[in-house]
Amino acid sequence: MHDYEALIAAARKSRENAHAAYSNFRVGAALRATSGRIFGGCNIENATYGLTVCAERVAIFKAISEGERGFDAVAVVTDADSLTPPCGACRQLLWEFCGDVPVILANYKGKTETEAMRDLFPKPFDASNL
Ligand SMILES: [Zn+2]
Repeated sequence: MHDYEALIAAARKSRENAHAAYSNFRVGAALRATSGRIFGGCNIENATYGLTVCAERVAIFKAISEGERGFDAVAVVTDADSLTPPCGACRQLLWEFCGDVPVILANYKGKTETEAMRDLFPKPFDASNL
């Protein structure tokens, strides 16, 4: 299924809940499970900056904690002119739980781009290394 509109819409909706009091950079993410359920996440910052958690990881942790396993797409939405890819930490987590899924990047000007996780994270450290 390549219809990512619902996934992008869910990421936008989650972005509205971002707690970005320090950076003012609001991010929304959404993860689609193979069950069809969609899990949204927003960035959640903290006065102790290092405790900040990205939108992608919030979405992953929500889905995993709800018992979901197996995902087929993830979307990341910001209002930046240039699309915002997941940071390194999130790429590691996305690879762990989603593998080589499409990552849909979108902004509020109608710009979207789809990247493959294998391109964003070409030489992963994962269970095969253990
Ligand atoms: Zn991140």
